[in-house]
Amino acid sequence: MRIAMISEHASPLAVLGGVDAGGQNAHVAELAAALAAEGHELRVYTRRDDATLPEVVSLSDQVDVVHVPAGPASPLPKDELLPYMGGFADWMARDWQGGWKPDVAHAHFWMSGLATVTAARRCDVPVVLTYHALGSVKRRHQGAADTSPEHRIGYERQLGRVVDRVIVQCQDEVRELVGLGVPRSRTTMVPSGVNTDRFRKDGPVAPGGTVRRILSVGRLVPRKGFEDLIRALPEVPRAELVIVGGPEAELLDQDPYAQHLLRLAKENHVENRVRLTGSVPAAEMPAWYRSAAVVAATPWYEPFGLTPLEAMACGVPVVATAVGGLTDTVVDGVTGDLVAPRDPAGLGSALRRLLSDENRRLGYAAAAVDRAQNAYAWPRIAARMGAVYASVAAIPAAVA
Ligand code: UDP
Repeated sequence: MRIAMISEHASPLAVLGGVDAGGQNAHVAELAAALAAEGHELRVYTRRDDATLPEVVSLSDQVDVVHVPAGPASPLPKDELLPYMGGFADWMARDWQGGWKPDVAHAHFWMSGLATVTAARRCDVPVVLTYHALGSVKRRHQGAADTSPEHRIGYERQLGRVVDRVIVQCQDEVRELVGLGVPRSRTTMVPSGVNTDRFRKDGPVAPGGTVRRILSVGRLVPRKGFEDLIRALPEVPRAELVIVGGPEAELLDQDPYAQHLLRLAKENHVENRVRLTGSVPAAEMPAWYRSAAVVAATPWYEPFGLTPLEAMACGVPVVATAVGGLTDTVVDGVTGDLVAPRDPAGLGSALRRLLSDENRRLGYAAAAVDRAQNAYAWPRIAARMGAVYASVAAIPAAVA
């Protein structure tokens, strides 16, 4: 099949770990590569956010990343991109009319969904949508701090009703969509995957400290729950907390939230046991996971959450909050422990218990690798996605 993948703000080429770059970039890159390995041909359309970018960058013989000129050729927060989605759609429709008409278009995130549905209507192409994150969830958790465009939730509801298929990534998302008014029958569950060639038990290990390491990975934003972890640390003796992610190491001094976390560590008398590394290149992530006795993933909410899965594939148990996708990936009492979000005391006792019971920890580690490999390896996920594409490509597009 010819597959168009649309990811307006999250380029597969982007550096991971910055404020607006994260799981979606990795997901799109890995999914495209795994589909190419199945013999499909792909174009990944993303916004041109740098004037020096060539129009097309080939990732391989079968995968091209196409930089769509829509809005200024400079970085913009994703919440400011909505006005440019019409231009994005026009450009893409011309590309499809000019000879590269896809069999299916897979949009990632709601704004890509809008551009894709607009272009697909003109060209009679079926559309598959993965939301990655939902405005209704963000609004509930962030309230007035939510900078999403005003009508995001309405657009998301509408998109769910017009696209040919909605890909959901976890059970929690199904519940949320049904609540929004998107019928369950329009959804198919295909979770994100993990690259089990890169994320595996054996390989280089990042240098360790003198005490056991609790590792947490993510963009330095409040909802990732790093504050809860720092507050939990006094309850976990003889362990250090390493937080990977955020701006580059040399910019941490100027990052207000990084400074806030370090102040909090001081207030809790754990400043000698908390370390922020700043962002780490994707290639070095497996070594960091392997250096940990346990990975803590403690967001207040999380649409899917790649980092627990990456940790599991590296043979590291995960203590996670029971939110969003984490309740699917982490099996409580088998591959890790699930705890309530925003509860430093509960988190502290779960970490302390696991770090003081080596048998339990090793049992979780072995089960974690099995689960990552058997349920989430990319070839398996790509095959499931390919089957969804084939089913929608065979029927007339609902958006036409
Ligand atoms: N990541 C990375 N370097 C960093 C921090 C994170 O490569 O310094 C990667 C991490 O390995 C994962 C992704 O960024 O693949 C984060 O995805 P996740 O779904 O956990 O969170 P999101 O950022 O999408 O909210």
